[in-house]
Amino acid sequence: MKITCIKSHVLGYDLPEELGYSQQYYARRTAHLVEIETDEGISGWGECFGPGNIALANRAIVEQVIQPMLLGEDPMAREVLWHRVYNLLRDHGQKGMPMQALSGVDIALWDLFGKIVGQPIHGLLGGAFRDRVPVYGYGMMLKRESLAEHVARFSDEAAAIREAGFVATKMKVGLGVRDDIALCVAVREGVGPDFDFMVDANHCYTVNDAMTVGLALDELGAYWFEEPVAPEDLDGYIRLRDHIATHISGGEAEFSRWGWRELLTRGCLDIAQPEVCALGGISEYQKVLAMAHAHFTPVVNHVWGSAIAVAANLQLLAAMPPLPGGLFPREPWLEFDTTDNRFRDQLLLEPLDIQGQVARSGGTVSVPTGPGLGVEPDRDFIAHYAI
Ligand code: CA
Repeated sequence: MKITCIKSHVLGYDLPEELGYSQQYYARRTAHLVEIETDEGISGWGECFGPGNIALANRAIVEQVIQPMLLGEDPMAREVLWHRVYNLLRDHGQKGMPMQALSGVDIALWDLFGKIVGQPIHGLLGGAFRDRVPVYGYGMMLKRESLAEHVARFSDEAAAIREAGFVATKMKVGLGVRDDIALCVAVREGVGPDFDFMVDANHCYTVNDAMTVGLALDELGAYWFEEPVAPEDLDGYIRLRDHIATHISGGEAEFSRWGWRELLTRGCLDIAQPEVCALGGISEYQKVLAMAHAHFTPVVNHVWGSAIAVAANLQLLAAMPPLPGGLFPREPWLEFDTTDNRFRDQLLLEPLDIQGQVARSGGTVSVPTGPGLGVEPDRDFIAHYAI
């Protein structure tokens, strides 16, 4: 079997309302799917992390840089192909967009592998430790509104996410230290005393500001404090871990085994959040996962994007060993964005219906069991939203 074409499908639509996090407001949803075709008529699907215009630039990397390296090659030779691409891109970007582009290609090769041998990806990785995965719902985005409006909305939204059946929730911060603490208090009040909530700063703080917020989170019993400082500030992560009881989490902006090696060996994280659609794909994710577990660092995947990304993560979460193991181990969670996302809810011929599954099952979702990713996108839907 030979690879005959590697194609990017970039999709976009205007959101019903503008949303924000600590770095920007945004009003469009985009997704970047990768399709690999073969001479035997089988196609594999992957996805690249990278919203907005980043997706358009990544499309050029996928189609104009990576595709020529892989045309005519055996799609089963995933490791060989990964290393060929990485080695040729190394001088031009060991992190960021080249790795996001390679990630989508690698995931599509794994989907192809599964379809060729008739196995779901979790089967190829060694089997399923679980056939259902608990889901946490994130929401509570920033908007152009007053602090009082934010506080009231965050409290209501947190309660609604709990009511919808999710096992935990996550909020954004980024208004400034004093206002952010008020938002965290509102979310604790919204969910009540016996429910996990997490706080995502998207690296908006200095270490000292993060320390102030982190100590408040200790008082409130938050479960994790995500990306408190810039991803390059490894010393900042270490200082926060030394002083704050709340788990310090991060890693969505880190790439490859070599980038992750630093985060893990230096002890920057209580919880690792690798992004499979950015760090190098499933092949590289498995190496990062092994390294995280070698450091006894639990992994809760960062998940963002379309139903392809969600399916890839469900496959990985099914195949993730419990850490450290036990009769009632803490199970890995699926991250789920509760804001408007047609590319997740409507892309597939058979939708995953995560919200419905969560509501019916008490917070869990089943792992797809079909070959490869176990899902198939609707080509008419893709054509309608293609940019
Ligand atoms: Ca995040």
